[in-house]
Amino acid sequence: MSFTIQGDRKVSFWYDGHMSKITSINPSTYQVIGSVDSSTDQEVQAAVEKARQAQPAWENAGLEERSKAIQSFMKISQERAEDIAEIMSQEMGKPILSSRGQVKETVEYWHAYLDMAKEALAPEIIFETDEERHTQYREPLGVLAAISPWNFPFLALAWQMGQALIAGNTIVYKPSEETVLFAKLVAELVAASDLPEGVLNILIGNGQVGEQLVSQTIDGILFTGSTATGQRITELVAKSSVRVFTEMGGSAPGIVFEDADVPTIIDTIYDMRFENTGQYCDGLKRLLVHESKLDEVLAALAEANLKRVVGNASDEDTDIGPLVAERQLKLLEGQVADALDKGAKVQFGGKQPDGLEGAYYLPTVLTEVSYDMRVWHEEVFGPVLAVVTFTSEDEAVKLANDTPYGLGAFVFTNSKERYQRIAKQLKVGNVAHNNTLYYRPQIPFGGYKQSGNSRTNGVEGFAEITQIKVVSEEK
Ligand code: NAD
Repeated sequence: MSFTIQGDRKVSFWYDGHMSKITSINPSTYQVIGSVDSSTDQEVQAAVEKARQAQPAWENAGLEERSKAIQSFMKISQERAEDIAEIMSQEMGKPILSSRGQVKETVEYWHAYLDMAKEALAPEIIFETDEERHTQYREPLGVLAAISPWNFPFLALAWQMGQALIAGNTIVYKPSEETVLFAKLVAELVAASDLPEGVLNILIGNGQVGEQLVSQTIDGILFTGSTATGQRITELVAKSSVRVFTEMGGSAPGIVFEDADVPTIIDTIYDMRFENTGQYCDGLKRLLVHESKLDEVLAALAEANLKRVVGNASDEDTDIGPLVAERQLKLLEGQVADALDKGAKVQFGGKQPDGLEGAYYLPTVLTEVSYDMRVWHEEVFGPVLAVVTFTSEDEAVKLANDTPYGLGAFVFTNSKERYQRIAKQLKVGNVAHNNTLYYRPQIPFGGYKQSGNSRTNGVEGFAEITQIKVVSEEK
């Protein structure tokens, strides 16, 4: 047996070159908490074949039967809610109260999708005269590969594949190598539910297993993760014409105008940057503040920070846990070091907390940020907020759009007219106003530019993972 280190995750390979294990490390303590066999090439192929065999019956079962099977999966998930929450907290450092909240929220998403499906998937007469009728049907694409990141493990299951499964697709799902114990648990839940064999198949593995999966004969790829990986997968399958639905990185701006009411919005700004230890795809990663408001905003952020506790994710008092892994900590430290070298100033944070052994980093606010710094032009996936000032609306819009990403944006103003004017100019898929956010199963979510080409949620989410068939008939 030999070992290779992939990031800070130890992967052990057996002599035959097939059997390998992925070790799960708790980022709150750096202790090993388990290991799971990585899927072999044969297992990847077998999973796709099973999904292929199961697909016609799943499609033909009809929405009502599919809903019943999915509800049984939800019921079992609710029964095992504490196990799901605990494993998420232990493997990726999400504070336990948030993990419990996530399980509840996920179940709500599934139920909302089921409610929406009847109308969203219903046949529609799109043209009719006395002599003829043309009906549009939405049919599933077939067998889909789903490849996920680690930042919202259970919710990602619903967001990424909930609507696809409901619509009659079958799925081969490869969660992140950072959450292999979670993946194993999901496989158990699926097996214990009434989901027919082959409808939702779970693979364990890293990017190599992901590459093996996307090289199979499949009908579409649901990818959520970094822009680099999404682009790599798109390149890999370019010749096969398989559709790749991408939900990728982000560097959302938050714009605080001079008429914003700072005390009422500060928690939204703080949470959209620091909750989940800054590991939100559309997290508020760059804060643009009207120069007249800078002192007030910085003081309010510092005050909000005093109320948050950084600590072990399994502890109920913790508001902000560790980053997912040491490799993510190193990446973040490199981005901050680059900013400090180029003249940025730390308002608070800027280092690991004392007395904690794990992938911790204190919530950090940086000012005097320049546009050549990595914290400005790269995605910062951790608790570091880059703050710059502006003096006019035009400048604010220009700075907000100064990124290859286009996922979310947050606008803080008490003027509805200004909000509409600014929202129209932002090159992003979702814009939030003050404390009104856009996270609901009914609201399409997705990016412009290098943040992706796809939409989940809402009627649009069903449209994406189905194909249209028009049946024209004489009367
Ligand atoms: P990642 O790109 O490193 O990994 C994502 C998934 O892709 C993992 O399952 C990984 O094993 C797999 N993968 C890696 N290389 C692959 C390859 N060559 N072929 C096939 N699969 C491969 O991303 P991550 O670090 O897990 O997640 C963080 C990123 O995800 C951030 O950029 C974040 O913004 C993004 N994200 C986006 C959304 C969204 O909805 N837009 C949601 C959550 C996270």
